[in-house]
Amino acid sequence: MESGFIESKPAQQSGLRLCVLASGSAGNCSVLVAHGPVETAFWLIDAGLSMKRTRRLLSDVGLADQIPRGIILTHLDDDHANPSVLDGFGDEVPVFLHRRHLGRAEREGRLFRRTEVFTSQIELGAGCSLSVRLAHHDIDGSATLRFLLERPEGCCELGYATDVGRPTSELIEHLAGVDVLAIESNYCPRMQEAANRPAQVKARVTGGSGHLSNQQCVRMVRAIAPQAHVVLLHLSHQCNTPELAAIEHLGSEYRLSVSSQHEPTPWIEAGLRPAGPARVKAETLFEV
Ligand SMILES: [Zn+2]
Repeated sequence: MESGFIESKPAQQSGLRLCVLASGSAGNCSVLVAHGPVETAFWLIDAGLSMKRTRRLLSDVGLADQIPRGIILTHLDDDHANPSVLDGFGDEVPVFLHRRHLGRAEREGRLFRRTEVFTSQIELGAGCSLSVRLAHHDIDGSATLRFLLERPEGCCELGYATDVGRPTSELIEHLAGVDVLAIESNYCPRMQEAANRPAQVKARVTGGSGHLSNQQCVRMVRAIAPQAHVVLLHLSHQCNTPELAAIEHLGSEYRLSVSSQHEPTPWIEAGLRPAGPARVKAETLFEV
């Protein structure tokens, strides 16, 4: 089978579909599918699980023995970039990597034969393009992703933001008005405060170059104003619960899914809408 192409499933509509296979500090991996009448392809977003588990979960969600068209990395931390997966699908599957992460990839031996380097924009194929902004996360940052699928009959957009560090106006502008938004909601501040973990770990998580709290997440979501669906990513096992993360979104008009470390989310659909500017004017939000 040709790399990255899925056998035809005629009942499915054109558009983007996302399934978060697993998300959390023990490993992150999502599947993004671009469906079309002629061509259907899928990519992995992050590859932080073992190869064995990645294959098993792909099988569980209907992609047994399928090969991704590429692996897109937000950054190179172990919970997002497991070398066994980066090298596990064979030479023909490229790894997409932000230019900022190249040095670390070289130092750590994670550069593979096919590496596609991006900075702000890259064509993925199958009518799908990706624009990128770096978020504050540790030294090298984390790539936040805005996917655009364009077909003759319409378009749709999906945002993906994990390990974001802190809300910024640049990120909000970058992701404004997407149809589906996957975004981290890492910790409850009170649970973080009370957690039995070293002070420097707490400082790293909460210090503006670590992760978003539940409250920072919902502030960003409200400012981004996604059109249809929000998926919460990377909940801390020790310092959060799905209920605490979800309750911040009560009363919202979008549908909400909460990802898990242990089982995949359902498939989340972004159907095609008439082509045209989807971006709404993002609210101003001061960096914190
Ligand atoms: Zn992470």
